[in-house]
Amino acid sequence: MKHILLSIACFCLSTAASFSQTAVKLDTVMPVRGLAIAAPSQQGIPLFIKFIEEELAPAHFNLLILRVDWNYDYKSHPELKDPNPLTLDNVRQIADACRKHGIRVAPQINLLGHQSWAKTTYALLREYPEFDETPHVHTEDYTGWPNPDGLYCKSYCPLHPGVHKVVFELIDELTAAFDTDLFHAGMDEVFYIGDDKCPRCSGHDKAELFAGEVSAIRNHLALTGKKLMIWGDRLIDGKTTGIGAWEASMNNTHRAIDLIPKDVFICDWHYERADQTAVYFAMKGFDVATCPWRKPEIALVQLDDMIRFRANATRQMAPHFRGIIETVWSGADGFLKSYYNPETYKQEVSDAVTLKKLMEAYKQMY
Ligand SMILES: [Zn+2]
Repeated sequence: MKHILLSIACFCLSTAASFSQTAVKLDTVMPVRGLAIAAPSQQGIPLFIKFIEEELAPAHFNLLILRVDWNYDYKSHPELKDPNPLTLDNVRQIADACRKHGIRVAPQINLLGHQSWAKTTYALLREYPEFDETPHVHTEDYTGWPNPDGLYCKSYCPLHPGVHKVVFELIDELTAAFDTDLFHAGMDEVFYIGDDKCPRCSGHDKAELFAGEVSAIRNHLALTGKKLMIWGDRLIDGKTTGIGAWEASMNNTHRAIDLIPKDVFICDWHYERADQTAVYFAMKGFDVATCPWRKPEIALVQLDDMIRFRANATRQMAPHFRGIIETVWSGADGFLKSYYNPETYKQEVSDAVTLKKLMEAYKQMY
């Protein structure tokens, strides 16, 4: 009996040791394995939690960036919430499921840019039109892209004296609801910045305006030990690199890379080519993750690149290459419908297919 117990004890010890060694190995090769997706609707919560527990967790995902925006029952600013938003209880359910499986959550509110979409002005500028960087441009006149106004999405004015009180209250409430020390501020594709007609921003250096806003949000989070994540496109020179106006900046914001605090986490998204700009961010001293979307073959090249960058970089740079964050840009409920539909996997270009390929890769690496 003693012998059997000893054997069982040895088996348990060796199993635990091999598990911990493989966990350490995956964390060493690829510390961040993330998904960025919209928060679900209230009705979508049960399926979303099933997805976390039965799909993301077994595939060793450890970061969930959740685009919440106005889909939360803000008590600090009830005027900004969508109809039927997520409640505190809903958010706690998601946060608890993630915590149980070692998945960190970074809730996201799109700040600075993305304050409108096509003809719809979103809550912040709808309720506080005085924060609008370009009040002379009317979303109801939107005719599609491109257009004479250069309207893609509206921005708020980063120099408006009232905007940060509102924005910081939202950040504080949302990070407290998720009980997390990560916050994603979006800040991608900011086309309207330093507008010539803005009485506060006109004539200012656009890189300084962008850096000022990143720094203000980062500094606010740092007061309570929290960390800022942003998309990286505004920090890349779109003209010199040839990456262009979307995945990089053609409006002179890119010099902000040398003006913002180094502890901002960069989500470096590239969907059509495996652009190796993660190296640029790491050389500047930033933690960076590469973010694919719906082309599985690109995502797998980006995964290989990330592993290679970590393996071949200097002792100083290697730790900055953090991993891969897959992005999903449809609504969460619609995405899960396609994720659980076998027909989806007949497609070559699909966010669900890309996610599955990454899941398989992480499981193999584990
Ligand atoms: Zn302004």
